[in-house]
Amino acid sequence: MVYNQILVRFGDLTLKGRNQKDFYNRLIRLIHLKLKGLNVNINNYHDRVYIDLLDTPYLDVVDRLDKVSGLYSYSLCVKCDTDIETIKKTAIALCQEEIVGDEVLFKVSCKRADKKYPLQSPELNKVVAAAVLSSCNNLKVDVHNPQKTLYVEVRCEGCFMYTSEIRGLGGFPVGVAGKGLVMLSGGIDSPVCGIQAMKQGIQIECIHFESTPLTSIESAQKVVDLVKIMSDYAPEGKIKLHMIPFKEMHMALLENVPESYNITIMRRMMYRIATKLAQKRDCLVLINGESVGQVASQTLYSMNVINSVTNMPVIRPLVTYDKVDIIRLAEKYKTFTTSIKPFADCCTVYVPKNPATHPHLDKCLEYEKLFDYETLVNEAVDNVKSIELSMSSDLDLAALGLEVRKVL
Ligand code: ATP
Ligand code: MG
Repeated sequence: MVYNQILVRFGDLTLKGRNQKDFYNRLIRLIHLKLKGLNVNINNYHDRVYIDLLDTPYLDVVDRLDKVSGLYSYSLCVKCDTDIETIKKTAIALCQEEIVGDEVLFKVSCKRADKKYPLQSPELNKVVAAAVLSSCNNLKVDVHNPQKTLYVEVRCEGCFMYTSEIRGLGGFPVGVAGKGLVMLSGGIDSPVCGIQAMKQGIQIECIHFESTPLTSIESAQKVVDLVKIMSDYAPEGKIKLHMIPFKEMHMALLENVPESYNITIMRRMMYRIATKLAQKRDCLVLINGESVGQVASQTLYSMNVINSVTNMPVIRPLVTYDKVDIIRLAEKYKTFTTSIKPFADCCTVYVPKNPATHPHLDKCLEYEKLFDYETLVNEAVDNVKSIELSMSSDLDLAALGLEVRKVL
């Protein structure tokens, strides 16, 4: 069967009351942007979009649609003329190909959107079902519990037929919710949390704390590669990455802070720097890949002590996720193979043997008096190196002035 159309549905947008129109327009624009360069026609009617595939293979289109947030589901369709003989013939061909197996319970569900069409929906159901049953003897009608349904929509512009619905990314069109700053390490969690944030309508910029040459240049390159993959989900296919030079801070921490509090205070510094940068960049929230219990810095006690340095809301899209589920998402979003490349970043280099899982705020304040962290925080923000990345970016990190050192 040659699919010649894709029918796209919007999901949660219907919840949005008066903003609905704005959301639809944004989503339609996203679909146009995403399909740019492909030979297809895009038509929208009310709360649906029909993509006329022309000569483009449907998989090429589906691959791009899977990266559009706010898109609830889509169906591969056959569009045909609305005369009843053509509808019957097309229905038979579609069922023969798509509904395989013995004794499949099925029903026909017709919708007559063109109110001038001579047959009403119940009559259409009967006529189409009779035609299909006469040619497909593996099918049996069960209108209450069908295993398969043949959907037939008769519209002024043609008849659309399909048998299945594929889930899209869901959520809201990226950008409708404002902008957030994603704290991006080179690990598995944070790229997933960034894509989840975009799925929920948040436009993102990313901040990475890099400690080259204490850490390898490859660990910074990995972050660049991850942002490139993530940019495929962004509105214009671009994401800004802010590289924060963290080496001086890192060394000050190693020198001044007792080992067990090193990570706690390091993370307080990261939150302070991220908050300052977020304010500069008009980001309304911080977003990170923390998940309760994953490591010492992610106990509720640690989160409390770390979070107390900022007034900005911190969104943790993965906070209740099991690692296996995060990995599944990382595979789906195609960030996994890059994330597992073995280059350590500043959180994994010099990990203390016994990190505090129950840190106390007064101790943090005491240790933070041991060095002039405010100057280091301000210098880090002032010396940020910002780059805009897309899938096709080709970036030489040495050109950014990062110091190269052999992989640890
Ligand atoms: P990930 O959580 O991405 O798999 P990780 O497990 O190495 O990486 P954690 O130590 O769990 O990172 O840190 C928790 C969160 O803190 C990360 O998900 C990320 O949002 C943020 N983070 C950690 N290290 C960095 C860094 N070097 N730069 C920016 N953000 C970081
Ligand atoms: Mg983690």
